[in-house]
Amino acid sequence: MELDMKHEKRCPSCTKYKPLLPEFWHRNKARPDGFSSICKDCKKIADQERHRKNHSMSRLDRLKKKAIKDLKKRYKEEAISGIYHDVKFIDELHDIENAKEEKDLV
Ligand SMILES: [Zn+2]
Repeated sequence: MELDMKHEKRCPSCTKYKPLLPEFWHRNKARPDGFSSICKDCKKIADQERHRKNHSMSRLDRLKKKAIKDLKKRYKEEAISGIYHDVKFIDELHDIENAKEEKDLV
């Protein structure tokens, strides 16, 4: 099968021209040409990147959990019936909860 330019499209992500065929592009009915805007290869990389980001998010959440546990342990002596009244505790707890990166937790 011969392909002319009409049957190829340029992927904005890798800037390559690829034949407008399902083996190169995911189908997307919402698009005028019926295919995704980025090619399959780039979609795969984007998915992997998203997965990696999600993974690091849950890692951060795990670290937060641990940091809160450690914090509670540190203030346990001062806690009255399991309630932490110390202002420093509340400040530190907020810092942990608002941490966006691992380095914010150290
Ligand atoms: Zn691409």
